[in-house]
Amino acid sequence: MNYMKPNIEAMDAYVPGEQMPGREVVKLNTNENPYPPTSAVIDAMRHELLGQLRVYPDPRAGRFCEAVGNLLGFEPDWVLAANGSDNLIVMIARAALGPGRRMAQPVPTFPYYDTQAQVEDAELINVPCDPETFALDIDALQAADADVTFVANPNSPTGITASNDDLRRLAAGLRGLLVIDEAYVDFAKDTAVSLTREFDNVIVLRTLSKGYSLAGLRLGYAVAQPAILRQLWKTKEIYNVTTLSQEIGLAAIRDQDHKNANAEKIKADRAKLAEALTQRGCRVWPSQTNFLMVAVPGGKAEPVGEALKARDVLVRYFKQPAVMNDKLRITVGSPEQNEKLLKAWDDAKANRP
Ligand SMILES: *Cc1c(COP(=O)(O)O)cnc(C)c1O
Repeated sequence: MNYMKPNIEAMDAYVPGEQMPGREVVKLNTNENPYPPTSAVIDAMRHELLGQLRVYPDPRAGRFCEAVGNLLGFEPDWVLAANGSDNLIVMIARAALGPGRRMAQPVPTFPYYDTQAQVEDAELINVPCDPETFALDIDALQAADADVTFVANPNSPTGITASNDDLRRLAAGLRGLLVIDEAYVDFAKDTAVSLTREFDNVIVLRTLSKGYSLAGLRLGYAVAQPAILRQLWKTKEIYNVTTLSQEIGLAAIRDQDHKNANAEKIKADRAKLAEALTQRGCRVWPSQTNFLMVAVPGGKAEPVGEALKARDVLVRYFKQPAVMNDKLRITVGSPEQNEKLLKAWDDAKANRP
């Protein structure tokens, strides 16, 4: 009873991070922002919404795209909104991948690029990061000569960031598209968004899920040259961004102060948490994100992850031999959450057999 295409039957489904609804846990496993979004979203939800929900949303999310364009210094036709950046990854794969076409990515990275390459039955080329520093191998990514090269920058789950010079060199050397996924840009030092002006093959993805504390809303956008976005538009679901998302997203984009203040808190607490984990004998890689990649002394990441979970603290455990073996990825929470994590950590250590 194989009703589906062979590549769909053969592939594994994407496994989302655990959510544990209804349970009171310290949730540091999926890189959500610990602070609430701007309260301006409340007014946006009330604003004429009963009237607006009766009719279809603006398929272009025009006011939202205009606000993003104003913020970043682009005309609105350089911005394409979507139902989370996941939705943009799907659209790019639909438009540019398929049998006989190649997708390249660093490993480790965000696993959803791989999922979409498999859905489109494209060939996948994994380019290992440096096993010590987790730096991208720019030359090998270029040599893969793919139709689409996905780079999360800063990368997840490593937190490591490539310089704009490296990304520029990569963009210049590729015949295909270079997708730079800036999901964590709000916690980083730099952005590659200006590369879209220099190169007609660069697409930058952004999301409101992390920096703007709106993971539940599902809103992201792409920045690229209008000719590229006109092609992606063809693969879009007709009304992929709800009226509610457009209104709330607009309010969030307009309140940069709120987002930036939360990012500053998280960056300061990131340094404190890295210090506290280092004191406990962990190796902590430099991060420009809202999470830390951590190696536990004695290669004990799995039991430590389990012990934390038993104490209602969720972190993400990674076991990918030769790619990212035996590491924890820990989201930087509020000071209270980070305290609870460290308390659980010490308690687990004291009680280890
Ligand atoms: C969280 C994350 C996303 C998902 O963003 P959504 O807008 O919530 O779909 C995309 N890419 C990376 C690298 C992420 O970490």
